[in-house]
Amino acid sequence: MTDSYQRELQSALEAVRQAAIACRSVQSSITTEALAKKDKSPVTVADFASQAIICRQLQLDFPADPVIGEEGAAELKLPTGAEFLNRVVQECGVAGLAASATEVCDWIDRGGASQYSPRFWTLDPIDGTKGFLRKEQYAIALALIIDGQIAVGVLGCPNMPMDGKPDGTGVLAWAVRGQGAWMQPLNEPDSAPTRIAVAQASNTTDMRFCESVESGHSSHDWSGLIATELGIHLDPIRMDSQCKYLAVARGDADLYLRLPTRKGYQEKIWDHAAGILVVQEAGGHVTDIHGRNPDFTQGASLTQNEGMVVTNGKSHQAVVFAIKKHAPAEMA
Ligand code: AMP
Ligand code: MG
Repeated sequence: MTDSYQRELQSALEAVRQAAIACRSVQSSITTEALAKKDKSPVTVADFASQAIICRQLQLDFPADPVIGEEGAAELKLPTGAEFLNRVVQECGVAGLAASATEVCDWIDRGGASQYSPRFWTLDPIDGTKGFLRKEQYAIALALIIDGQIAVGVLGCPNMPMDGKPDGTGVLAWAVRGQGAWMQPLNEPDSAPTRIAVAQASNTTDMRFCESVESGHSSHDWSGLIATELGIHLDPIRMDSQCKYLAVARGDADLYLRLPTRKGYQEKIWDHAAGILVVQEAGGHVTDIHGRNPDFTQGASLTQNEGMVVTNGKSHQAVVFAIKKHAPAEMA
C-alpha cells in the first residue's frame, strides 16, 4: 500500500461535497406535514441522488473500482418508481449534474457490488435516515478499502456544528491512513483544514458517551448499566449516523457505544468504515464489543464482529470489560 492516496482523497471529498448539496436541497423541502405523516419519500430521493452523484465521480476517476453501496436502482426502474426517479434526476441537477434517467440509474447501480475485493469503496449515501427526516444529524460516508485496511475515509456531516461558524455550515471530516484526521467547514472547500484529535479524558467517570437515538439500533438499557459501572455521570449524547464517530474524533465525546439489540445482527461496512478511520487517525481506538478488530474482508457485512466500541483510546479495555460484565443473557 502506498501512503499517498491524494487522488483518491480529492475525488472522494469532491464527491461527498456535491452529494451534500443534493441532500440539503431535499432536506430543506421536508414540510412539517410530511414530518407528521412520517413520509419517508424525501430520504429515498436524497439517498438515491447522493449515491448517483458519488458513484458518478468514482466511475470517472477510478472506473475499475467496485463500490459496495447501500442502494440499488432496481426499485427506481419499476413503473412505480418513475416519479421517484424523476425527482432523483432533478436533485442531481440541483447539484450541477444534468443527466438522463438512464444515466442516473447506471450511476446508482455502480454501487451494487457486494463481494470483497482487494480494492473497493464502500458508501452510505445517507447514514442516519431517521436523523435526516427529523432534520437532525445524518452523514454521507465514503471509504476506500485496500487489502482489508481502510485507506481513506470521508464523512460529510451537513448539520454538525463547526466552532465559530454559523449553524448550517456543516463539517467535512476525513482521514488517510497514516496522515491524521482533518476537518473543514463543509461549505468552504478552500479553507485551511484543521487537524482533529480525540479528547484526553482518561478517567471513565469524566467520560461523555454517545449512542444512537434509535434504541432499536443500539441497546440503551445495556449502555445505561455500563455507564453506571464506569461511574459516568453525564447523560448520553444521542445522535444519529456516523456523526458519532466525528464527535469522538474531535473530542466532543469520549466514547461511542453500539450495543447489539439482538443476537445475529450484522453491522454493515458502510455504517462504520469512514468513521473508524477518522477516529483512528485522531488517536482513538475502535473494536467490536468483544475487543476484536473490525474485519473488512467479509463483503458488505462485518460478519466477524458484533456491535462497536469507539473510545478516545484511554480505558478501552475497561469499557470492553464493563460491556461483557453487563451483557444481556442472549448476547453473552
Ligand atoms: P444510527 O444512526 O447510528 O442509529 O445508525 C443507523 C444505521 O443503523 C443504519 O444505516 C442501518 O444500517 C443500521 N441499522 C439498522 N438496523 C439495525 C440494528 N438492528 N442494529 C444496529 N444497526 C442497525
Ligand atoms: Mg447507515
